[in-house]
Amino acid sequence: MNPTERLAQLKEQGLYRRRRVIEGAQGIEVWVDGERLINFSSNDYLGLANHPAVVSALKNGAERYGVGSGSAHLICGHSSAHHALEEELADFTGRRRALLFSTGYMANIGVISALVGRSDKVLEDRLNHASLLDGGLLSRAQFQRYRHADSADLEDKLSGSSRRQLIVTDGVFSMDGDLAPLPAMAKLAEEHQATLMVDDAHGIGVLGDHGAGVLQHFGLSQQQVPVLMGTLGKGLGTFGAFVAGSEDLIELLIQQARSYVFTTAMPAAVAEATRASLKIVRTEPWRREKLQMLSQRFREGASQLGWRLLDSASAIQPILIGDSRQTIAASEALLRQGYWVGAIRPPTVPQGQARLRVTFSANHQQQHVDGLLTALAAIKL
Ligand code: PMP
Repeated sequence: MNPTERLAQLKEQGLYRRRRVIEGAQGIEVWVDGERLINFSSNDYLGLANHPAVVSALKNGAERYGVGSGSAHLICGHSSAHHALEEELADFTGRRRALLFSTGYMANIGVISALVGRSDKVLEDRLNHASLLDGGLLSRAQFQRYRHADSADLEDKLSGSSRRQLIVTDGVFSMDGDLAPLPAMAKLAEEHQATLMVDDAHGIGVLGDHGAGVLQHFGLSQQQVPVLMGTLGKGLGTFGAFVAGSEDLIELLIQQARSYVFTTAMPAAVAEATRASLKIVRTEPWRREKLQMLSQRFREGASQLGWRLLDSASAIQPILIGDSRQTIAASEALLRQGYWVGAIRPPTVPQGQARLRVTFSANHQQQHVDGLLTALAAIKL
């Protein structure tokens, strides 16, 4: 279709998306068009994207390694900084090895298409992140989606297949904030000799006693969940992603994951910055505790105001509105009061389930949450 007509259609449907230009650093306060906004839309959950120790590790890394990595990891782009970060991520997640990818999107499409092919089957939660769904389609395996977080439906779809089966799920659902029922899923995987892969983009750094994510939260082992993917651009506050697992899994990905093999390695300085942020994640549990406290305070306040919340115990607290245009109107009303909350619409969420996605950071203070609640109280839809 012609792009002009398509754009007009997106605007008409309330699905047109606008970028806002941020002046200066990420953080709780950001400046947009000369106005100061309190930011409740970032995935920088632990407040590390602009932490002085992380910034200085990036600067020192650039002094030492330069900016560009020069090539893919398999050519000459794999530096001692990348290597050290991989070892630290393996230790952090309690796995034999970890492998860096340039982004989470690339990790997911690369891993799924390396692990399964035409004669296999991939089962995915309906609400999985787009990169997991795209990975499933790209793999050319038989592709089935089961109902959201529904182990009974998953079991039905696993039964009676003679193919090798890969079950793929978000750990924390990015637009709902709820957790996948992983203990039940791990049991099903074992009963059906299927492999379980978890994308823990929103759990790494945030969940588990030491921040090792949703698997630590549930106490699940590498044997139960052989493929763990995590991102570095959210809880860890930097950029990139990793996959952690057995020696052979990682070795296979190095050989066969096309989005690993055929792309330039992330800058080594970013790996250095991530090493610094990983240290903070491991040694400052107060950041996780504060996130819990802020989310809880928000939940109580927002439900008293009559807003419809989803059942989320994470740092992602969506307010379900339904209609896309009303969701935009609500987010604009918040912007006018100085609060930035993302309006999430289809295709990111299913039709009729548009929402405000409120996310918290360990750098928010109670007064920020109270201010947001006051702003929400002033909105009439
Ligand atoms: N998986 C999930 C669940 C995500 O939310 C995201 C980021 N939105 C990704 C993967 C992609 O990660 P990245 O931004 O590093 O490409």
